Amino acid sequence: MTEQRLAQDPRRRIPRTDDLLALPEVTAARSRLSEAVLRGLVRQAQERARSGRIAPDDVAAALVADLAARSATSLRPVLNATGVVVHTNLGRAPLSEAAVEALVAASGYVDVEMDLASGARSRRGAGARAALLAAVPQAEDALVVNNGAAALVLATTALAAGREVIVSRGELVEIGAGFRLPDLIASTGARLREVGTTNRTNLADYDDATGPETGCLLKVHPSNFRVTGFTAAVPVAALRTLAEERGVPLVVDVGSGLPDHDPALPEEPDLAAALADGADVVIASGDKLLGGPQAGLLLGRTEAIQRLAKHPLARAVRADKLTLAALEATLTGGPTPVARSLHAEPERLRQRAERLADRLAARLTGRLVPGGETASATVVPHDGRVGGGGAPGVPLPGWAVRLPEAAAPLLRSGDPAVLPRVHDGACLVDLRCVPEDQDERLAAAASAALDALAGSVSGGTSGGTSGPGPASGDG
Ligand SMILES: *Cc1c(COP(=O)(O)O)cnc(C)c1O
Repeated sequence: MTEQRLAQDPRRRIPRTDDLLALPEVTAARSRLSEAVLRGLVRQAQERARSGRIAPDDVAAALVADLAARSATSLRPVLNATGVVVHTNLGRAPLSEAAVEALVAASGYVDVEMDLASGARSRRGAGARAALLAAVPQAEDALVVNNGAAALVLATTALAAGREVIVSRGELVEIGAGFRLPDLIASTGARLREVGTTNRTNLADYDDATGPETGCLLKVHPSNFRVTGFTAAVPVAALRTLAEERGVPLVVDVGSGLPDHDPALPEEPDLAAALADGADVVIASGDKLLGGPQAGLLLGRTEAIQRLAKHPLARAVRADKLTLAALEATLTGGPTPVARSLHAEPERLRQRAERLADRLAARLTGRLVPGGETASATVVPHDGRVGGGGAPGVPLPGWAVRLPEAAAPLLRSGDPAVLPRVHDGACLVDLRCVPEDQDERLAAAASAALDALAGSVSGGTSGGTSGPGPASGDG
C-alpha cells in the first residue's frame, strides 16, 4: 500500500481506543461496568468499522448505544405470560416489594450474626427464624439452608448416614432436569430402604422395615405427579405413631412450602399440618408457593433441628445474608406476587385480556402472518398452573389472548422479553403472572412483535397476498 492510499483508507479515521475511553459516556459508565467490559465494547465498535459494517464516523455513537444497552448482568427480566405461577426456568418466585427492599438493605454490612447491643456474636439469621416460627407456630425451631435439596441432604445425612432411610416406592420422585430424590439420598451415605409398591404402601410395610438399622422415616410429597385409581399411602399422623413406638425420627418433605392450608389448593400439603400431624422435621423450598428467595426450610422439634444445625454439613449449605433478609421480609411483608397470581380473580383476568386483545386486534385487522393465516387476537379461556412441581393437575381458571404461533419467538426476543405459552398451534398470552402495572409495557411489546410479524409477510415473497401494510402509530 502506498502512503497516499493509506492516508485515504477510511479505516484510518476509526477513533483511537484512548479517545473512545475518554468519552464522557464511557466515564459515566465506569461505576457500573468494569474496565475490561468497557474496553471490550470499544474494541467491538472499532471492529465493526474495520469490517465496514459501520462508518468510522459512527463508531463513537455505536459505542454509546452499546453502553446504554449493556448492564452488568446478562440476566434479562421477563414478563411471564405463561400462566405458570412458579416457573422454574424463570427463577421460580418473583420477590415481593418488601423482599426486594430487604435485599438491597442487606447488601452492605449487616448484623446477620451479631448482637449490636453487646457486640457479641449472635445466632445467624435470627430474624428469619423468628419470622418462620411466627408463620408456622407448630414449629419449635427452624433452620434455613441453601435450597430444598440441601435441606433433604442435611436431614438424611445428620439423621441416617450409614443407616437406612425408609421411604415409600410411590414417593421416589424425580423433581425435574434429572434431579432424582433417591440418587440424592444415596449420595449422603444413607441407604435407601424402599417399602410398598408404586401405587400402594401400608403402615405394615413401614413397620416391617423399621429396626435397629433405621436412621429415619421419610415421607416425600410427590409434588409433580399424581397416582390415581387403586392407591394407598400412609398419612403423617399414622407414621408418627410408628416413629414414636420405634424411637426413630420422622422427616416429611412437603416440597412447595405453603405455611398454612390454602383453600385454592385443597390437596397441597402445608408445613403447619405436617407438624401438627407429628413430623419431627418438615422440609420445604423457599421459592415455590411461599413466594420467597431460593432457600431450604427445615422446621420442627427443637432436638431434631438442633441435631441438623450442629452437623458439620450445615455450614456447607448455610443460607447467605441476602436469602435470610429476603425470606424474613417475604414472611413479614405484604402479599407476595405468587399469592397474587395464585388468587387472581378470573373476571379481572378476562377484563385485562380483553383490553390487550382489543388493542392488538386493531393493529392486526386484515393482515396475514407466516403460513397465510389471517392474524387475529382473541380472548380464550385458559387455565393457569401452579408449576414448580406444585399441585399437579390443578387448573387455575382464567383467560388468555390467543395470537398466531409465529408471534411467540418475537415476543420472547422483544423488549421487554415476554414469555407466552405455545400450545395447540397458538401463542397464548396469559396475564395471571404479569403484574397489572406492567400491562402497558406488555401491550407495547406485543404490538411491536405483531408489527414485525405482519411486516415479515408483507415485506417478504408472499406474492402480493398480504393485506394492508402495518398500521401506523402505537395503537
Ligand atoms: C422442589 C422439591 C424439592 C427440591 O427443592 P429445591 O428447592 O428445588 O432444591 C425437594 N422435594 C420436593 C418434594 C420438592 O417438591
